[in-house]
Amino acid sequence: MSDISKPQLMHFYDEESAELAVAIVKYAMERTKMDPPPLDKPYTLSELNNIVGQTIKPEGRNGLEVLQEFIDELAPSCISVDHPLFLSFVPGAPTESSLLFDLVVSVSNVYAGSWLEGAGAVYAENQALRWIADLAGMPAESGGVFVTGGTAGNLSALLAARWNWRNKANGACDAIRPLIVASGGSHSSVAQAAKVMDADVIKVPVDERGRTSGAAMKQLVDSLSETDKQRICAIVATSGTTNVGVVDDLQGIGEQARRLGTWFHVDGAYGAAALCAPSVRHLFNGIELCDSLIVDPHKWLFGPYDSCALLYRNPEIARQAHTQHAEYLDVLQQEGDKRPDEAMNPADLAHHLSRRARGLPVWFSLAMHGTDAYRDAMEATLQVTRESADIIRNATHVDLVLEPELSVTVFKRLGWNAQQYQQWSDRILERGLAFVVPSSWNGETVLRLCIVNPRTTVAGIQSIIESLK
Ligand SMILES: *Cc1c(COP(=O)(O)O)cnc(C)c1O
Repeated sequence: MSDISKPQLMHFYDEESAELAVAIVKYAMERTKMDPPPLDKPYTLSELNNIVGQTIKPEGRNGLEVLQEFIDELAPSCISVDHPLFLSFVPGAPTESSLLFDLVVSVSNVYAGSWLEGAGAVYAENQALRWIADLAGMPAESGGVFVTGGTAGNLSALLAARWNWRNKANGACDAIRPLIVASGGSHSSVAQAAKVMDADVIKVPVDERGRTSGAAMKQLVDSLSETDKQRICAIVATSGTTNVGVVDDLQGIGEQARRLGTWFHVDGAYGAAALCAPSVRHLFNGIELCDSLIVDPHKWLFGPYDSCALLYRNPEIARQAHTQHAEYLDVLQQEGDKRPDEAMNPADLAHHLSRRARGLPVWFSLAMHGTDAYRDAMEATLQVTRESADIIRNATHVDLVLEPELSVTVFKRLGWNAQQYQQWSDRILERGLAFVVPSSWNGETVLRLCIVNPRTTVAGIQSIIESLK
């Protein structure tokens, strides 16, 4: 030990590392076992300054002490997304096995950008992607990659769409500003992608439930000038809008995209997870027409942050759109026996290069529990959603605004203004009961319960509804 120079000490597995490993695994066990974990709440910056203060020092500190500081002071200042009554935004509910395997992914530190460096990890990730592609009815040649989230997935898919649009036009569209036609309920990340791409977005009107039909898509596209029609690089449908959880008419919109010869992207970041639930599978009819599809395992597919499964009908297009070329990378692009049967490099299929094998936690969980367990867990969340809607329908102080289609229930408290909603929301978080923030629908303040956690119970929902009295 004495002959190890100081710079190497940081990379040396000594007694302190061993103690730390035990403590970290112990914490991992305890955190994973918590049922439920405490809801917790964010401290203010000044509170954290007082409680925690400066953590990084020139001389360093004992690792166990820093770990304890995280466990006792920093972690409790983060709301537990996996608490069964965290029902705001889109929560997460990772399986125990996916969380634990995330530790394995971390310590293995595989570079999963290329087949050359990460073949085994990529092979396993691809099987998880295949499961989703099969549920969606995508062809055998389809494939993709796990990216950080829906925002990255939508951008990468739309970049591939734009490449394809320009490539097919043989130069005629190279100097033309692209146009994305998106369903009215499309997520903010589609507009954000358009901003990055310097593209325009037109949103198609929705019906009273927030859904875009094929007829509405046709009407909008037909109303465009020939010049604008030529600018369309992609049509985007949403399979599960984030705010109210409705699925667009994928069949109708997909057929319009086919008619126009335009790329059809389906944003299922939240909702496409329910492809594995037979009771709602019909809502997704037409999804098989997609050229690209995204779904976030960190939302409703019981995986940890961060991951989005991005799938392409023809991954070769994505490869052409995204591959980076550099002297030091050329070795990864060899033709012949390295491709296609040794698969594509995940780095080449999205707007990224280096990447963590972030699909492995969900792969491990799928391999361990089997896809039937996913189907059952998904149906359980849908069932609790339906029963929650019944509770709301039968109570006199609240009003159901929309029948839930997937797992979002939208309702209002009779007679309350926006401020009263916010105060109630703050109060129940403070009490550690639940995390439910107000949203809006047609300009009106509403509450939405988004259920993705098989541990969420009807009794829990009942207690939230009671607290609104
Ligand atoms: C959440 C969501 C996104 C964005 O996903 P992130 O993982 O948060 O980047 C995109 N589209 C839809 C429909 C979503 O629900």
